[in-house]
Amino acid sequence: MSEFDAILVGAGHNSLACAAHLAAKGWKVGVFERNATLGGAVRTQEYTLPGFRHDFGAMNLSLFAGSAFHKMYANELKSHGLEFAPVADCFASVFPDGKWFGVSTDLEKTATRIAAFSSADADAWRKLVAAFPGEAEHLFRLLGSPMGFRALAGTGWNLWRKKGVSGALDTARLLLSSPRAWLDENFASPHVKATLAAWGMHLDFAPDIAGGAVFPYLESMANQNFGMVLGKGGADTMIRALENMVTAAGGKIFTNADVAEITTAGGKATGIRLASGETHSAAKAVIAGVAPGALAGRLLPNGSGDAGFDTAMKKFRHAPGTMMIHLALDDLPNWQAGAELRQFAYVHLAPSLDQMAKTYSQAIAGLLPDEPVLVVGQPTAIDASRAPAGKHVLWVQVRALPAEIAGDAAGEIQPAPWETVKERYAERVLDIIEHYAPGLRGKILGRAIFSPLDLERENPNLVGGDQICGSHHISQNFLFRPARGFAKWNTPVERLHLTGAATWPGAGVGAASGFMLARQLAGR
Ligand SMILES: Cc1cc2nc3c(=O)[nH]c(=O)nc-3n(C[C@H](O)[C@H](O)[C@H](O)COP(=O)(O)OP(=O)(O)OC[C@H]3O[C@@H](n4cnc5c(N)ncnc54)[C@H](O)[C@@H]3O)c2cc1C
Repeated sequence: MSEFDAILVGAGHNSLACAAHLAAKGWKVGVFERNATLGGAVRTQEYTLPGFRHDFGAMNLSLFAGSAFHKMYANELKSHGLEFAPVADCFASVFPDGKWFGVSTDLEKTATRIAAFSSADADAWRKLVAAFPGEAEHLFRLLGSPMGFRALAGTGWNLWRKKGVSGALDTARLLLSSPRAWLDENFASPHVKATLAAWGMHLDFAPDIAGGAVFPYLESMANQNFGMVLGKGGADTMIRALENMVTAAGGKIFTNADVAEITTAGGKATGIRLASGETHSAAKAVIAGVAPGALAGRLLPNGSGDAGFDTAMKKFRHAPGTMMIHLALDDLPNWQAGAELRQFAYVHLAPSLDQMAKTYSQAIAGLLPDEPVLVVGQPTAIDASRAPAGKHVLWVQVRALPAEIAGDAAGEIQPAPWETVKERYAERVLDIIEHYAPGLRGKILGRAIFSPLDLERENPNLVGGDQICGSHHISQNFLFRPARGFAKWNTPVERLHLTGAATWPGAGVGAASGFMLARQLAGR
């Protein structure tokens, strides 16, 4: 048995960032990860063939690059190996009519592409881009503050001082709007609207869900203003750097260490028990980077002492699932709509708002969507080091899917467990890509398919393949993430904290939850 000041359950990037800050402040930290590899949803491995490095989950590291954690520790991270690959051609969509639209950091390029659809939309885009710094200040402040009435009041006060009542109400309205409401107000072109709305589908914001507008807004404006970054050599560059920071500061990291229970005494967390039976104690904090259901279930078998909290954790709502298809390729797809598309980090196959809305409702109803939304990542277009010379990897994210299959919206696949269905469903996905990029199948050298349940097997936080560890709909966000009264990473058990995507400010690789908690515990 070892004694630590803080024990972290799981080595997702939030836990690692939390551990790094605590260790830098002199805390003795121990991180316990059930897998052989650290990083949770941020891992890079040769899933197909030797030399082809695939990002298991997160590929876009812009949130980490722009994070408060990175701002504070940029030098340390760099000296521990962090390297980014900047992206100028960020995201695009292709359409059944043979057209495409994409956002690049060069404003003239983006605006010219928009003007080909609608000159009024090009003007609207320029106005939004010009207003973005004034808007971003408030939104990033809110997302970067511990969630409570103080943060909300502080944001409101600042908004009112800088933008007046009507300006402040406009920002509040943006936060409450659905993607479609915001897009319809600002743009006329269905192509432009669909291209931006696809970002809502990276989370669980289909076009008509209130609270979703801010994601397409922030992603498109941030990409236009700052571009995007990938990890050089793979997204795991950030995990290796975090790991090195923790160990260099004296922290200990254990892999193949499945935490079976958080031990408590007198209403306080005292440590952990591993599945192997080994125990470890923590004098100041146990920090669980797990899904809420696991915290109130497996990890606290006798409950937290607060039945309301336990019920809220067990009823925490997960979003629909994701399938990941990793391809090793002889060459990038030949997008029929335009050769320029080969240089984009992401190509979305999400041709209309109605298609996205339909896909989402099919998934929620337990159906395999007839035409899923596809996010086709082309990391080797930006960073050739991830594959042997001249070869490529393709990162295909299939949104949105049911965890349990009740039927098939296309009426072709009989309901069955994912293990028996995934290959067939992957063929549907490849057919869609092939339609937009003929010849893709002939370029495939190797493939690896992860169904929603495979994602959960790889990382139990991805419940049912939910890549964001919990719906971000308004009723489970802000003051209500993961539940009312517990938005500040607190639990009813003294010294026990929850971190990670299930907690404020939610999913993504911004390390915000872990870093804000670490500052709360050990100071800035
Ligand atoms: C397919 C996919 C694509 C994504 N794409 C992007 C993207 O491009 N950009 C972006 O910003 N975000 C993306 N995300 C979201 C982002 O990756 C996650 O929100 C984020 O990485 C979650 O980090 P976390 O700290 O909550 O922990 P996680 O990454 O969920 O890691 C949790 C860790 O805890 C471990 N663990 C759980 N229970 C135990 C236990 N009992 N004992 C020991 N260890 C345990 C798990 O094994 C895991 O390693 C994506 C996610 C997925 C799945």
